[in-house]
Amino acid sequence: MTTHAPAPSRTAAARADGLSKVYGEGGTRVVALDSVSVEFARARFTAIMGPSGSGKSTLLHCLAGLDRGTAGSVRIGDTELSGLNDRQLTRLRREKTGFVFQAFNLLPTLTALENITLPMAIGGGRPDRRWLEQVVESVGLSGRLGHRPAQLSGGQQQRVAVARALVSRPEIVFADEPTGNLDSRSGAEVLGLLRGAVRELGQTVVMVTHDPAAAAHADRVVFLADGRITDELHAPTAEAVLERMRRFDTASRTS
Ligand code: ADP
Repeated sequence: MTTHAPAPSRTAAARADGLSKVYGEGGTRVVALDSVSVEFARARFTAIMGPSGSGKSTLLHCLAGLDRGTAGSVRIGDTELSGLNDRQLTRLRREKTGFVFQAFNLLPTLTALENITLPMAIGGGRPDRRWLEQVVESVGLSGRLGHRPAQLSGGQQQRVAVARALVSRPEIVFADEPTGNLDSRSGAEVLGLLRGAVRELGQTVVMVTHDPAAAAHADRVVFLADGRITDELHAPTAEAVLERMRRFDTASRTS
C-alpha cells in the first residue's frame, strides 16, 4: 500500500510528516521508522498497533517529543518540534502533552492528589479547580486522594496516572501500553477512562497497544509494520483488529 502524506488539517492535535528514525550505523543500522506520515485529529482516540519491533514505541516517543527523529517533521498543534531546543521541548511537553506509562511512574512518597498535580506544580502552574475536580471524579478517585501509591491497587494507580496526564488539559495524551500491567477488569476501566476523556472531556489520546480488545476502545487503529504505516481501521471491533493482525502474519510469512 502506498501512503500519501495527509493534507494539512486545522484539527490535528499532532502529526508526523515523512518521519524517519534510524538507530546505529553500518552492520547495526536499524530503520525503526521509515518516512511515516500520519495525523491525529483532536478529540479522537487512536490506537497504534503492530508486531513487536515494528516501531510503535519509537513513533509514540517521537510524537511526544521524548525522542527526536532522524528526518521528517513532527508537530504538536501548530508547533514544529524540530525547531525547538531541549529546553523549549521540555516546556512544550509539560504544557501540551500528557504521558501514561505502562509502569504508572508515580512518586511513592506523594499522595494521589500530589502526584496528579505535581507536573503542573513543577511548571509553576496551578490546575483549574473545577477541572481538577471533574478529572478526579471522572477517574473515580474522589475518596482516594490522600492515599499513597502503595495503598492503591494497580488499577487505581493507573487511574492516578491518567488523571495526572489530563489535569493540565494537554493538547494530546500519549499512552504506552497503559493496560500492560493490569488485570483485564482494571485494564477495561482504564480504557473506559481514556475513552471518556475523549468523549466527555474532548481530549485527544494516542495509545500504543498490542491487545486487540484494548484497541477496540479507540475510534481508529493505525497499523505499523517494519517502521511503516500499512493500514488503518475506523470504529474498530476486537474481531476486526484481530483479523487485520492475522493478515499481517500471513503476509510476513509469505513475503
Ligand atoms: P515496538 O514498540 O513496535 O516493539 P520499537 O519502536 O521499540 O518497536 O523498535 C523498532 C525497532 O528499532 C526495533 O528493531 C528495535 O530493535 C529498534 N530500536 C528501538 N530502540 C532502539 C535503540 N535505542 N537502539 C537501537 N535500536 C533500537
